[in-house]
Amino acid sequence: MRPAERVQQVPPSGIRKFFELAEEKEEVVSLGVGEPDFSAPWAARTAAIDSLERGKTSYTSNRGRAELREAIARHVEQWDLEYDPDSEILVTTGASEAVDVAMRAFVDPGDVVAVPQPAYISYVPGITFAGGESLPVPTHQADDFALTREGLESAGAADADALVLCFPNNPTGATMSEAELAEVAAFAREHDLTVISDEIYAALTYEGEHTSIATLPGMRERTVVINGFSKAYAMTGLRLGYTLAPADATDAMNRIHQYAMLSAPTTAQYAAVEALRSCDDEVDSMRREYDRRRRFVISRFREMGMDCFEARGAFYAFPRCGGDDEQFAEELLEAQEVAVVPGSVFGEGGEGHLRISYATGMSQLKTAMDRIETFYREEWAGRL
Ligand code: PMP
Repeated sequence: MRPAERVQQVPPSGIRKFFELAEEKEEVVSLGVGEPDFSAPWAARTAAIDSLERGKTSYTSNRGRAELREAIARHVEQWDLEYDPDSEILVTTGASEAVDVAMRAFVDPGDVVAVPQPAYISYVPGITFAGGESLPVPTHQADDFALTREGLESAGAADADALVLCFPNNPTGATMSEAELAEVAAFAREHDLTVISDEIYAALTYEGEHTSIATLPGMRERTVVINGFSKAYAMTGLRLGYTLAPADATDAMNRIHQYAMLSAPTTAQYAAVEALRSCDDEVDSMRREYDRRRRFVISRFREMGMDCFEARGAFYAFPRCGGDDEQFAEELLEAQEVAVVPGSVFGEGGEGHLRISYATGMSQLKTAMDRIETFYREEWAGRL
């Protein structure tokens, strides 16, 4: 069978390719996957089990259980986001589905979507599947990987139809302050851009407060906010996310969701209500642990002589290895059995960097950092 043109356009995931290599080895320490090493909080797991015991195995309403949408509405008030649970919240199968329905609901064939890069790997394929074209907008370490008006202008984003944002960022760990976001918001208003803002790492902000662009003047009506339970609640396998958007935009996304997905996983929805109700302390302690690891990893890179940007959110460090990042990652895996992701997988501006996930236990992390240091000092630095 011949796959459709737009499917053929999308290459297989660069991260996956790398992990297949890693799987062939035995003693590999992986700092590769962007997935918490914790399990979901026990109370959330218990609620899921309890729902199964009570036979709650049917579909839910398309938009998600009302109780969950109400809990989400209360939860996002901490970021000054106010959305009506009945008409402005859609529960999805992970933030991944939210990205997909947002692209398909707002991107027409031929539309241009500006994507700040380095970027999380699902945006560009999502735009292609929707028939749109992506426009890379490079971000730079000199600007702390924040998106700037100059960056948007020089990439030609004034002519784009939509803009994707992801702060705190995967893969850089960058965050954006309210003042920085205000520049981007002004640009979006001037050029009438729809904004798709993936804020899945909002709760994993270590310095300063998370600000959502949707809270800035004139932005609520043009923004879809995406969030989910995978990261902060360590619920990746439960596959639950959500969108926040004005009622007509939510209706548009639900039109796709109701046919493509029907409803998000029921068991996970029970877990999520409990997670929002009673698990703040556990989320807090996971965040404190990530923060401890963040400081450790960044200081280790700096001590060994690698330039390492001060990541302020998510659970990634993005050091500069100098030289070819793919070669570094391949040789590191070969020589020291540590898996990291080459920065160039994340698009423009990622070359020469490595993405290090510190969602890994401290003892593994120490082993990995020792091995990286040995490789860097003994085999790599001499060649630079
Ligand atoms: N957005 C970003 C920025 C991510 O890093 C991830 C997960 N790696 C997702 C979305 C998808 O998350 P989910 O598990 O909720 O589909």
